Amino acid sequence: MLRIHQFPCLNDNYGYLVHDADSGATFAIDTPDADKYLAEAEKLGWVITGILNTHWHPDHAGGNLKIKEATGARITGPAGEAEKIPGIEVQARGGDQIAIGGYLVHVFDVPGHTLGHIGYFVPETKDAFVGDAVFALGCGRVFEGDMTMMWNSMQMIKSLPPETTLHCAHEYTQANARFAETVDPDNAALKAYINEIDDKRSRGEPTVPMSLARELETNPFLRADDPALQAAMGHPGDPVATFGEIRGRKDNF
Ligand code: ZN
Ligand code: FE
Repeated sequence: MLRIHQFPCLNDNYGYLVHDADSGATFAIDTPDADKYLAEAEKLGWVITGILNTHWHPDHAGGNLKIKEATGARITGPAGEAEKIPGIEVQARGGDQIAIGGYLVHVFDVPGHTLGHIGYFVPETKDAFVGDAVFALGCGRVFEGDMTMMWNSMQMIKSLPPETTLHCAHEYTQANARFAETVDPDNAALKAYINEIDDKRSRGEPTVPMSLARELETNPFLRADDPALQAAMGHPGDPVATFGEIRGRKDNF
């Protein structure tokens, strides 16, 4: 069985430890806070054997060296930004296959937030670790790439099986919801989702992980190929311009 332990880190990050009980392999997905990761692993009786980085930002790779020093964990990260990943030993790129104990992991490219950003998908359990590429009802800011690149990354996410569970790196959902309802006000599925999100947050519960199937119906950044949304954004037939319009509005929201 593959166990995924999720816990809050820093201000609004989520940390993840992924554990294969048969082999004892335990992988940290990103390393926002080394001390927190080490403490959570110890609490569960797990020893971190590997680190999988999604991108170079310090709230994702900043704890690499301290965790490696404490555990000897082997660090895998994006080939496209290897020079910025502390302690990287294995350079991964889209199409590569790696292993968490007995579980196969597919690496996929989702550049745009950063140029080398990658994600990790476990086909057997349909879990995807997406870093800052996509959030519940949102997506990462396009810092290093352009809108064409980021829309292609949204299409990469959309190509995963709809029953996939998305594990993203931040609890940004409520702010994303406030924005999503401004661009897609007539979407009934979105309204229902937002009600659930607001309920969860009022109880202090996480809204992450989330279902890809549900995001496909509600996340405006994944829906830039929807004709109604394209028309509403003033770019009929143009998913890249529609995506860029939505991203631009969110940046100024
Ligand atoms: Zn980031
Ligand atoms: Fe981040």
